[in-house]
Amino acid sequence: MTAVDIMIFIEPLNRLIKDNKAFKGEKVREEYFGGFCECGGIMFQKSWFSDDGARFLISECEKCWKNELISFNGNQLAGEKEEVQVIDRVELREFLREYLSPSEYEALVSKGRGESYNSSALSRAKRRLEDIGITIEEILGFI
Ligand SMILES: [Zn+2]
Repeated sequence: MTAVDIMIFIEPLNRLIKDNKAFKGEKVREEYFGGFCECGGIMFQKSWFSDDGARFLISECEKCWKNELISFNGNQLAGEKEEVQVIDRVELREFLREYLSPSEYEALVSKGRGESYNSSALSRAKRRLEDIGITIEEILGFI
């Protein structure tokens, strides 16, 4: 699996991975309208991401829990709504297992458990995670 080819929202880390880039989100704490879902439900804004004038909004449907991404160029809408795959706490582990090699994943898990680990595998894991904008420190609490 080439995980970074797809668009995913890693909810526990509030991170959007899109076009091989990672964006750190800003959570929306209030219930702001985020459009209508095709199921007829109302969508609420969940997180905003920005990068060099481009902004992305992820909204979630209150009824079917679908998550969609809307792109903005400044304040202008840019492009169609896109469905986004959400990775929760449990799926995060699965995602890492697929994204990293077995030895990299193993080293990460061992480090998380405070056991001895292969340090060259861990530095490879660290580099690969940095490629998608994630630090080892923030991931350790989830594995
Ligand atoms: Zn819906």
